Amino acid sequence: MTYDPGFPSHEILIGGAWGPCASGETVGLIDPSDGRPLAEIARGGPVDIDRAVAAAQAALDGDWGRHSATERGRLLSRLGALVLREADRLADMEARDVGKPLGQARADALALARYLEFYGGAADKIMGETIPYMDGYTVYTLREPHGVTGHIVPWNYPMQIIGRSVGAALAMGNACVLKPAEEACLTALAFARFAEEAGLPPGALNVVPGLGPEAGAALSAHPGVDHMSFTGSVPVGSAVQAAAAGQITPVTLELGGKSPQLVFADADLDAALHFLVNAGVQNAGQTCSAASRILIEAPIFDTVADRMAEAYGTLTVGPARSDPKIGPLISARQKARVTEMLALADPSHIRATGRLSPDAPETGAYVVPHLLSGMGPDHPLAQQEIFGPVQILLPFETEEEAIAIANGTEFGLVAAVWSRDGGRQMRLAKRLRAGQVFLNTYGAGGGVELPFGGVGKSGHGREKGFEALYGFSQLKTVAARHG
Ligand code: NAD
Repeated sequence: MTYDPGFPSHEILIGGAWGPCASGETVGLIDPSDGRPLAEIARGGPVDIDRAVAAAQAALDGDWGRHSATERGRLLSRLGALVLREADRLADMEARDVGKPLGQARADALALARYLEFYGGAADKIMGETIPYMDGYTVYTLREPHGVTGHIVPWNYPMQIIGRSVGAALAMGNACVLKPAEEACLTALAFARFAEEAGLPPGALNVVPGLGPEAGAALSAHPGVDHMSFTGSVPVGSAVQAAAAGQITPVTLELGGKSPQLVFADADLDAALHFLVNAGVQNAGQTCSAASRILIEAPIFDTVADRMAEAYGTLTVGPARSDPKIGPLISARQKARVTEMLALADPSHIRATGRLSPDAPETGAYVVPHLLSGMGPDHPLAQQEIFGPVQILLPFETEEEAIAIANGTEFGLVAAVWSRDGGRQMRLAKRLRAGQVFLNTYGAGGGVELPFGGVGKSGHGREKGFEALYGFSQLKTVAARHG
């Protein structure tokens, strides 16, 4: 028997009404912990996307469009409270759907609640300005919603990414069309049901699950969409941007990374160790801001490598609902991708691995964590995003060399510096090519309040924090000549 999430998982939400998609077809979800069928979701397509965009526009022209900022804020705060109330249920759902260890799935549910609290509180605190201009004029700016916003969300952190994009978009008064990933949809559907319960008017949020090249492509090319937010892979991000360009629709892209942590000889290693390992393997390494490269100053290379190897020995991979340190990957397909990349490593590169729990079914999508060293910074494994529990150790001799290696990939999402030297911290914070730099800490994906996004192939635009509210709105300048 398949899993019952407590609602018909094959239904889509358009204009406040739940029902099957136009084709009536479904796509099967798999529980990656054991490879067994989990539930069926709708295979939404262009017809459903058309209807969802029209419903979103109707909401903007109707009740939702008339909500004041304070009312929108209250609504999001109520939704945050509902998510908090349902955190355990959401965590169980996500553990089955994504293979995320139960504790981490619960942390994601709490983060979703926190996004809603944050954006609920912030909704009526975004203000325009008055601008000194010529005599006889009053000039001011208004922050207005884009209108209909499209949200294409991946499978790795569905709740967090919905919180940061849909939460911020609703706070600014946009009406959303959400296309969750075909591999992991359940918490998106549950979220939409809680949004109704919180009193979100029909059409303010529409949810159309479906395949990327069908529902996703239709959404990104839709002329009725006024802003697109995409999180996922570089090739698909590029396709979404190209499709949106046809309508001159602005796009926020949050793509991958090859984020480095730089460990200098004067670092507090006891403080660093947890962050060095955890930020690489959390969510089985399927994190856009995973710290997948650890750059270590030569004199302490072996010490750091040995301590990390020791920590790897304690990493157990197992079924998500037994709450191991590391769960399975999202799918057999992702396991095949990661395994294929690992095959590029020479056996001598493998410094340590974690272990598979005896209760992990053979049919699950498990990959044990791998700590690799002995390859140069230009090796494909040190350059390409692996999106699995794999970290590469790279030595450096000087600060200049560390910066060159850190900045030497096509990505630029997050970086960290471990050093007690204040001058070095400030120098590197400026010179590292990344959207976020952490000093003596690391926040893989963390920080509701902290603007987040990349440079280079990590994408453009910022989500999270107040910055997202500016991103999900546009500025209008009003100039009045009154003599
Ligand atoms: P993906 O980019 O294919 O999928 C992400 C989202 O885009 C999903 O909702 C998908 O349905 C949608 N999509 C797919 N094709 C589309 C299209 N043509 N038009 C519009 N939307 C489309 O990612 P994936 O296949 O799930 O994973 C592949 C790789 O992407 C991973 O190995 C990883 O490197 C990367 N990835 C990165 C992130 C991140 O957070 N940066 C998240 C997921 C995957």
